[in-house]
Amino acid sequence: MKQKETLSTTPLKEQHIDLSNLLIEEMGDEHKASSVETPLRADAFDKTDEEKIAAIAPHFKAIMEILGMDLRDDSLKGTPLRVAKMYVKELFQGLNPANMPSMTLFENKFQYNEMLVEKNINFYTNCEHHFVPFFGKAHVAYISSGKVIGLSKLNRLVEYFSKRPQVQERLTMQIGKALQTVLQTQDVAVMMDAKHLCVSSRGVKDDSSNTITSFYGGKFQEEQKKMEFLKYIDINE
Ligand SMILES: [Zn+2]
Repeated sequence: MKQKETLSTTPLKEQHIDLSNLLIEEMGDEHKASSVETPLRADAFDKTDEEKIAAIAPHFKAIMEILGMDLRDDSLKGTPLRVAKMYVKELFQGLNPANMPSMTLFENKFQYNEMLVEKNINFYTNCEHHFVPFFGKAHVAYISSGKVIGLSKLNRLVEYFSKRPQVQERLTMQIGKALQTVLQTQDVAVMMDAKHLCVSSRGVKDDSSNTITSFYGGKFQEEQKKMEFLKYIDINE
């Protein structure tokens, strides 16, 4: 909002030295998130999915045309609608809380009070600063407070938060905090190991680096539990 105001009230010749714009640009390239919550507009879900698809397609078409592409070509004709559908129905479906997977809890009948680790959960998401993919493995652990959830639900939850324009730190925290709420315990750990196409295919073009982020809650903040978790996931494997 602030940025918009600055843009409309600052004379053109001064725009290039506007500090707030510079910082926002830099923040995007450094992949910093502004908050744990995904920033959403108040009217985010006033439109139906179908209305959103119909509204996005002409905008994407305009981008392609501005780039100079001839959309009369058979291969390109269907792209704007295809991209609009993919955005709303697939890649960014997790923006809508209505699409959060249901999380049924079970009693922990076996009284299993040790750490439960699910490692190597594949995830694909998109960087909110460049709208290109980043992807990798998520490792999730919790210590039951008396409740457990089905293992596939851990995958579903990772997938749900991945289907948003994301920043890896935020994605990691959103998964961790949601698990704490669902499982009614603070004892949750999440680690994500990802490759960012905005780092490897453009910008610095570094395709050998991975980015690792982690979330440690409750007992996982203790060194011993943390080490145990790291030993289980053994990310050097
Ligand atoms: Zn990026």
